[in-house]
Amino acid sequence: MKSIVPAGCCPECGMEKVQCKYNHFQNDDLTIDAWEHRCHNCGWRVTTAYRSDDEDLDLSTLDPQVCPYCNRSATA
Ligand SMILES: [Zn+2]
Ligand SMILES: [Zn+2]
Repeated sequence: MKSIVPAGCCPECGMEKVQCKYNHFQNDDLTIDAWEHRCHNCGWRVTTAYRSDDEDLDLSTLDPQVCPYCNRSATA
């Protein structure tokens, strides 16, 4: 599962070239939800990955399928 949507303006160069990318990996009992915002003009980039085996991950306060940068839902 993979999806890319436009995510507005870049904080670095100000161009409307940022894309929000979501990746979902499943491997036995390990699940990874990975988010990336990247500017296709200047290359600015931020990433976050939520691993189901990460003990610091508190699923009661956080939904791995919601982008931490733009709050869009991966399933929407
Ligand atoms: Zn940029
Ligand atoms: Zn996003």
